[in-house]
Amino acid sequence: MFNWKKPLLSLYYYGTYPVRMRRFRDEASHGHAPAIVLYYHRIAEDRATPWTTSYAMFLRQMRWLRKRFDFVSLAEVQQRVAQAANARPCVSITFDDGYSDNCRDAIPWLIKERIPCTYFVTLRNVLKEEPFSHDLVWGRPLAVNSLEQIKAMSAAGIEIGAHGFTHSDLGTISDPRLLSYEVKTAKEEMEAAIGREVRYFAFPFGHPANLNAAVFEIARQVGFSGVCSAYGGYNFSGDDPFHVQRICAGNDMIHLKNWATLDPRKLRTARFDYQKMLACNSPTPTTAPSQAASASSAKKQQTPITKTLVPNH
Ligand SMILES: [Zn+2]
Repeated sequence: MFNWKKPLLSLYYYGTYPVRMRRFRDEASHGHAPAIVLYYHRIAEDRATPWTTSYAMFLRQMRWLRKRFDFVSLAEVQQRVAQAANARPCVSITFDDGYSDNCRDAIPWLIKERIPCTYFVTLRNVLKEEPFSHDLVWGRPLAVNSLEQIKAMSAAGIEIGAHGFTHSDLGTISDPRLLSYEVKTAKEEMEAAIGREVRYFAFPFGHPANLNAAVFEIARQVGFSGVCSAYGGYNFSGDDPFHVQRICAGNDMIHLKNWATLDPRKLRTARFDYQKMLACNSPTPTTAPSQAASASSAKKQQTPITKTLVPNH
């Protein structure tokens, strides 16, 4: 069946292009340029899944971005968000899960081009060399990175981040011991494995229903510098730099262009306000009843792509 979404999105993009470009320039001239953080999963030519981008498309996206944005690290994103003003739009590249195919073309290209990249890894799958459960559901047991690949990437300057120990949906967990295992243990064991500090954590799935205010608190306590979500959204100076909002890069040009040029609809996306939730739940930050209620209502409003997947637990 013909997919009408792409042509409709093209019409929307080009129809609103003059308005959004004016807005984009105004924001930048007032020191409010966006910091955009993209996430990919797997770059490969074969056995495509909804979270696979072809290498040719990945290169097209990188070249389009290079003409319009500074490529920066997550730390630089946080610095620009923390400062009073940011006049230069920037983009940071991240990957989630840990697919072996990324080490064939995409990661070597990023290293060669000196483009900063943060690579979030679910440690258990790497240590056990087990395919991800969301790929098994699709009948595609794709190869995960080996620990040797992770070490080699780290040595080459790719920042390795934590993506849970087991890729569980942390929005459904309230047991503090389990949350600590997914956040603290994932950090400590990854650091032991690669011999470097692991500074960033990315929620598995990453949509509002999959987030958990208690995880933000644990992440700060155990020394993470920042936590990433994945429900879409921009980062502007004055926002909370500890919570980095990310956008799916997608596997075509129109979605990327639409997102990266300040889609008016996406500007209305509400940030996940974990600080308010923690304040409501004080003094026991590891239980989050109001967050659960919020997550439940968010589930009704949004149908994230990953909700068709089956978490490990
Ligand atoms: Zn993931």
